[in-house]
Amino acid sequence: MNVFPWQNARWQEIALRFDRLPHAILISGAPGSGLLQFAQALAQRLLCETASGTAPACERCPACLWFNGHGHPDYLMLRPPADMDAPELEDASEESEGGTDKTERKALSRQILIDQVRTASDFMSVGAHQGGRRVVLIEPAEAMNVQAANALLKMLEEPPPHGVFLLVSYSVRRLLPTLRSRCRIIAMPKPDPAAAIPWLEAQGLSDAALLLAAAGGAPLRAVEFARGGQGERRRDFARGLARLPQGGDPLELAAQWQTWVADSKNPQVARVDLPLIVNWMQEWAADLGALALGGSVRFFPEQAADLRRLAESGNSARIGAWYNDLCRMRGVSGHTLNARLFIEDMLLRYLRSMARAAQPPARRPA
Ligand SMILES: [Zn+2]
Repeated sequence: MNVFPWQNARWQEIALRFDRLPHAILISGAPGSGLLQFAQALAQRLLCETASGTAPACERCPACLWFNGHGHPDYLMLRPPADMDAPELEDASEESEGGTDKTERKALSRQILIDQVRTASDFMSVGAHQGGRRVVLIEPAEAMNVQAANALLKMLEEPPPHGVFLLVSYSVRRLLPTLRSRCRIIAMPKPDPAAAIPWLEAQGLSDAALLLAAAGGAPLRAVEFARGGQGERRRDFARGLARLPQGGDPLELAAQWQTWVADSKNPQVARVDLPLIVNWMQEWAADLGALALGGSVRFFPEQAADLRRLAESGNSARIGAWYNDLCRMRGVSGHTLNARLFIEDMLLRYLRSMARAAQPPARRPA
């Protein structure tokens, strides 16, 4: 496996120490920037039978073939069940069954549980094939619940010989401090657009720079936008929001977005579910807030002119309060019962935060 171009510098730094890496490494950075792939490339290099010095994995030895094929016997990956390859089981029967059990199970499927860490402990207690290393990769590390994290901590306190733990985290502050302090931390910088844009273009994306900005600088997220057809809906989303404070109809807009949410379970259509809409809304608010405070547009560069106009007539304190509202709404958006009402509420709050922009009512000469 290769690392992404924007990760090359970090990779070279680590390559100087391939032979002396500690037994616990925490790779931290932004989601959508390829941390998992970086950790996988490192795992493969640690297991490769022929690479030495600063060279990457050879891609030819039996270990590399196993790694890229059905799995290496000395490699174990721990992820929340919901992130594993199988599609989530929740969709089909969601409405009919309902109830706490279901919600609990859904919440549990997003965690890494103690049983999984115990599996890793058993795995580490067995000697490695051919006397090499055994590698456990945990992603995202913050998905471990408290029991699982404590069980891992015990293992790190008495590290198994030949064992290496690679933790990937998108939110280091959510990890137990004791766990963090047991790891060598590799902080991945934000992907450099100069490296990310040519890579995106090589993936066949037009508008690479725009998509990268829309994805908050996360290249893999940009690819997801483009391939999922989300880019187009995101553009509609932004146009709708730009028009709304000037006499647009919030109910009409809510109806449109609700069809997106309803469509999001259809695999043929771009997946734009409610949490994603709230996320876009947060980005819209962040751009407005930044402009109101004299900063610049980050997420919606195509709508910069509209945003600037709105920010000029808006009020930065109200925009800030609205942004906080959205953070709270984001938390509940995954399990709201009535998407339509939720969206309407969100749009009315937006209009209130833009109240000064809305008056005087944009009355056109007859
Ligand atoms: Zn190899």
